[in-house]
Amino acid sequence: MNKLLLAVMLGVALAANSGACVAAPDEALLDAARRHEAPLLATLKELVLIESGSSDAAGLARMGDYAERRLKELGAAVERKDGIVTARFKGTGVRKLMLMAHMDTVYQPGILATQPYRVDGKRVYGPGIADDKSGIALILHTLALLRSAGWRDYAQLTVVFNSDEEIGSRASGDWIAMQAGEHDFVFSCEPHGAPLDGILLSASGIATATMTVQGRAAHAGVAAKAGRNALIELSHQLLQTKDIEVPGTQLNWTRANVGMVTNQIPASATALGDVRLSAPDGVQRLQQALREKVATPLVSDTVTTVELKAGRPPYLATAAGRAWAAKAQGIYAEIGRELALYPGSGGGTDAGYASRSGKAIVLESFGLGGEGVHGNDEYITLDSVLPRLYLLSRMLQEAGASR
Ligand SMILES: [Zn+2]
Repeated sequence: MNKLLLAVMLGVALAANSGACVAAPDEALLDAARRHEAPLLATLKELVLIESGSSDAAGLARMGDYAERRLKELGAAVERKDGIVTARFKGTGVRKLMLMAHMDTVYQPGILATQPYRVDGKRVYGPGIADDKSGIALILHTLALLRSAGWRDYAQLTVVFNSDEEIGSRASGDWIAMQAGEHDFVFSCEPHGAPLDGILLSASGIATATMTVQGRAAHAGVAAKAGRNALIELSHQLLQTKDIEVPGTQLNWTRANVGMVTNQIPASATALGDVRLSAPDGVQRLQQALREKVATPLVSDTVTTVELKAGRPPYLATAAGRAWAAKAQGIYAEIGRELALYPGSGGGTDAGYASRSGKAIVLESFGLGGEGVHGNDEYITLDSVLPRLYLLSRMLQEAGASR
C-alpha cells in the first residue's frame, strides 16, 4: 500500500452506529477468533522473519514456499507462476469468493539487522509487518478458523498472494483482474491506519503521459530560421496543457528531455507526466482532451503527439460495495467496535486491478491495524487482531450466504 494512502486516511469521521439495531455477536465464531489470536501472531512473526523486498527474488521464493505449504495444509490446490501464489478451495455453496494480499515489501535485503521483529506493549514491530504480512496472516487464520467451524458455504474460494504490489503489480495486475472477474466478491487485505479503524472506499489509479514534439534540426548560428525548434514548441504545449481539466484525472508534467548540443536547433523534445485517476475511463478522456489541445502549434511545421500509458487502475467502491461496507460496520458493531469508511486517497491498491472487469464486489483494507508503513517503525496493533479475524470471517460467511 502506498504511504500516501494511509496519510489521507486521517481526519475521516466515523460513521454513526447510533440508532441502528445492533445484532448480538456470533459467540462461537468470536471464541474461535480468540483461539486464533496467538497462532496468528506466531504466523506473522514467521512471515516477518522471511525478508521479501520486491526485488529480492530469493526471499520472495521463500515466502511463496511458506504460503504454498500453509495453504495446502488448509486443503487448497495451489498454483504458482510469475511470483504469484494462487490457492483454490472447492465448497458446497454458490458464491465465488476471493481474498488477496501481497508478499513483497519496500525493504531491502538485510533490513532485519537494523529493524528487527520486536514486541513493545500493544504493538508488534517489523519490516512489512502491517503492509502486507498482516493481510497474509489474517487470511491464513481466517480460513483456518472457518474450516474448523465446518464452513464451506461457497462454490469457489480463491486466495491470491502477489510479489510486486509495491512496484506497481506489472506482472500480477492482469492475473488479479482476470481472477477477480470470475468471482462475486473480492476482499483485499491491505492494512488500515491505526488508531482509526476503518476500510477504504476508493484509491487513485496511475498512468504515465508522454508528450513528443517533432520539429526540424538546423544550425543555431547560421540557419536558425530553417529549423523548427522542438524545445520552444514543447514549452508552448506544456503551458497549454498544464491546467487541463478532465474530471476524475490529474496531470502533472514532471520530466523533459530535449537537445544534445547548444549550436543546433533541436529537432525533437519529449516530456513525461504523472497522471492520477479517480475515474475508470479517465485515461481515454484525458488522452482525447490532450490531443485536442496540442493540435494548435506555436512553431509552424511541428507535430506534437501525446500518449497515455495506463498503470494500476483506480479503485472505487460501487453502490453494492458501499452497501457491503455498511454491512461490515454492522458486523463490527456486534462486537462493540466502530468502523470508519474512508472516502478516498491518492495512493494505489490492487483493489483497482480487481475492480477492472466491474463484475466482482471489491472491498479494501481488511488487514490488521498498523502504522509507519514503508518507514523504520512499521507496526501492527495487537488489539486489531481479534476484531479483524471476526470481521473477515463474518464477511465471508455473509458473502457466501448472499443470494
Ligand atoms: Zn500494501
